[in-house]
Amino acid sequence: MSDSLFRALDMIEPGDLVLYHGSITSHHGLWLALPCQCRDCLLADELGLPVARFALVDPWGERSGPCHARRESVTRSAACG
Ligand SMILES: [Zn+2]
Repeated sequence: MSDSLFRALDMIEPGDLVLYHGSITSHHGLWLALPCQCRDCLLADELGLPVARFALVDPWGERSGPCHARRESVTRSAACG
């Protein structure tokens, strides 16, 4: 119960501002999280598998961010909480 509650609170909705802190250190920072649209994720979606990967988009549109980022690699920004 507490686990599911925690997950609900920690959920990232498409368009949320997130902090990326994954393996690509040059991309650490603030991004907009969108559902990953790569072939693997679309396929998993079709199969009904839970996909928790994100494509990260620059809120200012200046650079392209990492895609297929793991859920563990992003944290919802306190700015939108
Ligand atoms: Zn993907």
